[in-house]
Amino acid sequence: MENSQYILSPREAYIAEQQWRIVKRSIDARQRELRVHLTILTDDKGNPIPKDAPIPLYEPPVFQDVHNAKHSTIIIGAGPAGLFAALTLLEHGIKPIIYERGKEVSERKKDIALLNRNEGLNSESNYCFGEGGAGTFSDGKLFSRSKKRGNMQRVMELFHYFGAPDTVLYEAHAHIGSDKLPGIIKNMRECILEHGGEIHFNLRIDDLRFNDFIQAKIPIILAIGHSAHDTYRMLAKEGVKLETKGFAMGVRAEHPQALINRLMYHLDVSKSRDLEVINYIGNASYSLVTQVNGRGVYSFCMCPGGHIVPAGSEAGSCVVNGMSASHRNSPYANSGIVVQINPEDISGENPLRGLEFQEELERLAFEHGGPQAQAPAQRLRDFVEGKASKDLPPCSYLPGTVSSRLDQWLPAHIGKRLQQGFRDFDKKYPGFLTNDAVILGVESRSSSAVRIPRDPQTLQSISTPGLYPCGEGAGYAGGITSSALDGINAALKIAELEI
Ligand SMILES: Cc1cc2nc3c(=O)[nH]c(=O)nc-3n(C[C@H](O)[C@H](O)[C@H](O)COP(=O)(O)OP(=O)(O)OC[C@H]3O[C@@H](n4cnc5c(N)ncnc54)[C@H](O)[C@@H]3O)c2cc1C
Repeated sequence: MENSQYILSPREAYIAEQQWRIVKRSIDARQRELRVHLTILTDDKGNPIPKDAPIPLYEPPVFQDVHNAKHSTIIIGAGPAGLFAALTLLEHGIKPIIYERGKEVSERKKDIALLNRNEGLNSESNYCFGEGGAGTFSDGKLFSRSKKRGNMQRVMELFHYFGAPDTVLYEAHAHIGSDKLPGIIKNMRECILEHGGEIHFNLRIDDLRFNDFIQAKIPIILAIGHSAHDTYRMLAKEGVKLETKGFAMGVRAEHPQALINRLMYHLDVSKSRDLEVINYIGNASYSLVTQVNGRGVYSFCMCPGGHIVPAGSEAGSCVVNGMSASHRNSPYANSGIVVQINPEDISGENPLRGLEFQEELERLAFEHGGPQAQAPAQRLRDFVEGKASKDLPPCSYLPGTVSSRLDQWLPAHIGKRLQQGFRDFDKKYPGFLTNDAVILGVESRSSSAVRIPRDPQTLQSISTPGLYPCGEGAGYAGGITSSALDGINAALKIAELEI
């Protein structure tokens, strides 16, 4: 089999995609006229392979029955890192035993609905905690900035195998959507259980009892994500080596999606021809970056046609993030706009200082928000010009917003940089800086503020052999794909030792 590459108009690409087996698709919006880069599978003579040809899309995984397996591994956390580690262990005949502090995904959905209606936060079952981890109710973007970490295509194949659409196999910026992810996560759970793995929900690990496990020669994969601040504190107490790492914080900005489509794609959805194109390639996203006073200011986790969501896990704090359904069809486009924070920007020697800094800002945002957990918000131009917003535009954030002077209460090293960052983005895309857009505080959980250092060869904690810190919470990944890959890599290391 060979591949042939084509650069097509959206209309041509749409027709080709209905007929032929696509290997790769990306949208090129650099010119005024949009182009779609398609790679099509061909036979040795260059003839395209029909979409429905009986050629397997990939080699399916083979999971072993581990009911009576000789070896087992404990996994703490059922996010992408923990689940993909478990699936990899199953492929190698090792029994995964997962402990997850939150609920299974269908129960978790109910807690999230309550949260969205301002009817209370369950600190163990929310947008961060529960089956599937932080990525379950997200946009489900499946790309990683780093290609060095491992076999990213295998992650896509596993997602596909458990129910993700074909596009995850070939789309350059694939995404799944929060309406589809819970079903995929449930399929993964059923596979793990059917093959003899164990999953224990509503079980938060508060004490590791390393010696017991080490004596029993049972490895522990620590895949806790970056929001379990209580678990980091427990690890510090238990003598696991932790260190501060750079992270990022800022706000979530929301524009009308129609405006972003115009700025990024030059498409006007009120025209039926342009709407047809959007219906095929999807609503426009953006990726923006600038430098302000020696620190990066950049867009993060952009969700076209999405919603802003309350992503905190502790009472008395306000944290925002974004998600989209598979069709990405809300009238809003939101994105984190964050400022790089280096360890030296926050004083103190304590390795958990970054977490404390996040918590301080989250509490501040809560205090400036409304009495029922409404998020503090400001129109974008007002924020940049240092003015109060008399009113706020419609916004996708279900718990609601209240007008607040983010320009006054955000720490200057974040707020001033954001203001300049928005001016820079407007130079690139005139119209981006508009009072039709709104910013909400705070986007504080975009990356882990802690690293759990590990040996680069064995992937075990440098202080605690037998412990495999992995995923976003270990500080070695950021996002669904890279966390899943990191989980796979940890499991492979264990398989090398055990088999
Ligand atoms: C709203 C939202 C939208 C996002 N959108 C995207 C996106 O579109 N694309 C993308 O790539 N990334 C996105 N992310 C980030 C992504 O979800 C994370 O990078 C990814 O989930 C990290 O995977 P992980 O397995 O390392 O940790 P997590 O997914 O955080 O999973 C950790 C799990 O460990 C459990 N846990 C923690 N402590 C304990 C304990 N002591 N005992 C037992 N269990 C414990 C938690 O309950 C959790 O389920 C989003 C995040 C959020 C919150």
